[in-house]
Amino acid sequence: MVTSDCLFCRIVAGEIPATVVHETATTLAFRDIDPKAPVHVLVIPKAHHADVSALAGADPGLAGEVLATVAAVVAAEGVAASGYRLIFNSGPDGGQEVFHAHGHILAGAPIGPMVSR
Ligand code: 5GP
Ligand code: ZN
Repeated sequence: MVTSDCLFCRIVAGEIPATVVHETATTLAFRDIDPKAPVHVLVIPKAHHADVSALAGADPGLAGEVLATVAAVVAAEGVAASGYRLIFNSGPDGGQEVFHAHGHILAGAPIGPMVSR
């Protein structure tokens, strides 16, 4: 039964399919549906928090578990040494579209300038 209108909560619940690359008791990592780099993985807490600030404020331990999952994913994807960019888009100016905290791991090629003006 659909219990949430949050897209990523529905992925956690298994109501929407995703290509999961890593899972812990409290976090989930899955490939972005519209990849912007050869490796583009989203890392989320399973619990709903609107953005990374809300996550860190409510449960800093869980925020740390999200970062530990990032480390596990980059190791598993073979990009820990070549490098990666970790982005948490937050709020309107940050360009956030899905309001369930998530980090983007971008890797597998040079990601380019941090931002373009
Ligand atoms: P934001 O702009 O909120 O930081 O990023 C949201 C990301 O979620 C986007 O990169 C977008 O491609 C991705 N996304 C949107 N819908 C889905 C979906 O149904 N499945 C997956 N795997 N990714 C999605
Ligand atoms: Zn959610």
